[in-house]
Amino acid sequence: MPGDLYCIRRTATVEEADIIVTWLADRGIEAQVVDRDNPGVLAFGLTDAEGIAICVADEETAKKAQALLEEHDREAAAQSKGEGEVEATCEECGTVNTFEASTRGTVQECSECGAYVDVPEIES
Ligand SMILES: [Zn+2]
Repeated sequence: MPGDLYCIRRTATVEEADIIVTWLADRGIEAQVVDRDNPGVLAFGLTDAEGIAICVADEETAKKAQALLEEHDREAAAQSKGEGEVEATCEECGTVNTFEASTRGTVQECSECGAYVDVPEIES
């Protein structure tokens, strides 16, 4: 039986999970990909089994790992478009609004007419 594990992240594929585990190892954090054939067996009763779970052994490590990952996500989002900004065209008035890269995937207001504007996700 596995001990108590703290799930810090879920990914769509094992490959992606392995990359993150390696990335964390470089930063002194020991993480593991939970049983690849049965990702539903987790602490906290997480049984939705959506994707591959990456876990660490204790809560303190989990907090550190999540902080690192969040920071990494922000940096990746900021760098993906070079300038740390993202453009979104207002469907109401056609104005091209420029938002911070950190607003990707959110809904903002058009600077011209105040209508809701969907800020696009990172293109891959
Ligand atoms: Zn507008």
